[in-house]
Amino acid sequence: MVISIVGVPIDLGSQRRGVDMGVSAIRYTGLITQIQRLGFRVKDLGNIYVPLLTEHKNEDRRTKHLDEVVRVSEELASVVGEELKNGALPIVLGGDHSIAIGTIAGVNMGAGNCGLIYFDAHGNYDTPETTCTGNIHGMALAIANGYGHDRLIGIGNSAIKIMPKNTVLIGVRELANDERKLLLKAGINIFDIQDIDKSGMHNVMKEAIDIASKNTDGIHLSFDLDVVDPIEAPGVGSRVLGGLFYREVHLAMEMLAEAGKIISMDFSEVNPILDEHNKTAELACRLILSALGKKRI
Ligand code: MG
Repeated sequence: MVISIVGVPIDLGSQRRGVDMGVSAIRYTGLITQIQRLGFRVKDLGNIYVPLLTEHKNEDRRTKHLDEVVRVSEELASVVGEELKNGALPIVLGGDHSIAIGTIAGVNMGAGNCGLIYFDAHGNYDTPETTCTGNIHGMALAIANGYGHDRLIGIGNSAIKIMPKNTVLIGVRELANDERKLLLKAGINIFDIQDIDKSGMHNVMKEAIDIASKNTDGIHLSFDLDVVDPIEAPGVGSRVLGGLFYREVHLAMEMLAEAGKIISMDFSEVNPILDEHNKTAELACRLILSALGKKRI
């Protein structure tokens, strides 16, 4: 199996500068060598070009840096789509969570009808109508399900990349009011932080894998490091207290590896400026290895 690594040093979808450096921070952990040690062949495709943040006149405040995010997402989608068609497993490193827009469009282009398991402390279900910030990373999951700005849902082959019935959001604990309305209306499957407290990660993941793989051709994993508790993952732009702990997220990754349904993944929101000695990037690296089947013994 070939693992294709793609970096997307984008911070244009978010408010916090520094998340563009997350790609370098994750590479710095020795990720590629460690994946090779697991027995995979690694193809490093380098980074997608992302323009630097500049001042934009006449910019739509409800979708900030739209032109740039669309351009980056289109290029990313075609890279991910090609890699999947060639039989590789793409791993996309961010960057802010707007990387999921292009990645998931590429998954749809390259692998057809897939399920999605989306780890995030946030809903990422804003649209230009509901957003308070205009930050596109807060819209990424809604776009996957076909809700949002025409130019963003227009990337790739079809407006709906992932069916809501095959979409699972895990670990969410902070939602805006308007976002909540659409999220509930869309009918996706949600395991919020309390569901995990009550049922345990093992049960939640068993159900999540069933939902995402039911009548699909595989599962895409989209992982925002802010789903993890800030004690374990301090280097993220939007910390939310009361998150998942180290073993919970590793168990989730290990169960995904055991299920053998993952066809591609993206990891986002590592911000080295806010991190402590690269702790969050190290965690991202270890989670990727667990998702690829690294055993403890
Ligand atoms: Mg988030």
